[in-house]
Amino acid sequence: MKRGFLNNTKARAKISGGDSEAPKKKTESGSTSGPSYYKAKYGVVEHAGLPEGYKLADLDVKELDPHRDPRTLPENLFLVTSLPIPLEAPAAAGTDRATACMLQSTTKAQILSTPGFPRPVPRPPAVRHRIGPAPGMDLGAFSTARIQRGEVILSERALLIAPGHLFGDDDYPSSFSEAQIQQAILVQAEQYLKVAFDRMDPEDKTAYMALANSHLQDGSGPILGIMRTNGVGAGPLTRPGTPPMPYSAVCKEISRLNHSCCPNTTALFDMPSFSFRLFALRDIASGEELTYPYIDVTAPAAERQKALEPYGFRCTCPACRDPTSDARR
Ligand SMILES: [Zn+2]
Repeated sequence: MKRGFLNNTKARAKISGGDSEAPKKKTESGSTSGPSYYKAKYGVVEHAGLPEGYKLADLDVKELDPHRDPRTLPENLFLVTSLPIPLEAPAAAGTDRATACMLQSTTKAQILSTPGFPRPVPRPPAVRHRIGPAPGMDLGAFSTARIQRGEVILSERALLIAPGHLFGDDDYPSSFSEAQIQQAILVQAEQYLKVAFDRMDPEDKTAYMALANSHLQDGSGPILGIMRTNGVGAGPLTRPGTPPMPYSAVCKEISRLNHSCCPNTTALFDMPSFSFRLFALRDIASGEELTYPYIDVTAPAAERQKALEPYGFRCTCPACRDPTSDARR
């Protein structure tokens, strides 16, 4: 049996993509995500490798005509594509970038039928944020002006959108342990994500690889590790009335926001413009750090810290420092 994302009803095993809410065209089946490629280019650690003796099948992603009506494709086929503009027709200089996507054919059909799609990204009139060093973290985002509750702080198209869950095969050797199955799933996911990653332009690839990765030691490849660390939920991509297929997005700027259990922003996906908008949840002073919730912040403090473990830090926000906050929540 072939392996891949192609038919999720056959998924035997899946693990969370680790993101907060949940997660051109012809594929070169010969392309690999070998260690030297990423190490030389981006200086990041490569995945741990497959269980001994296990060989992956060829990738099942096909390069499809980007102009083909997705409704004519098999239901739930996973596509790698760029939206809203196919790479084959690059956007004019100065216009909004496209997002590299791995998504189901039904999701693409839903996107293309959205009234008004594709609209330009609705940007706020002025830049009112900056990226810079953050206390206790590498980087964070900060306001550079007073921002009122409800205002849009920034808008951007994601670098990459992909399923927030990983899917496995039906046919791992019966001798495999759970850890080996998980490793095979991680390596396969990396290969699929790389097909989408390869569609980005060089500047976006560099921006993606510059993001934090808290999954350097668990067998995740670099593209997957960065997605698990930085993924923002793109809920509206799930087709209404169907089983949830959470999608996760990695953004150049919104993914820079650090977590707080008392966040001052929220990010919402806008389908017509295929972009995320970061809203202020309350009035924000100039110079204040912008924060976003990576997890369910209504959970008790102990559960929140547990849920944050994969991100590799301990939250010290006001709620986590206040022993009485659980009762209020
Ligand atoms: Zn906290």
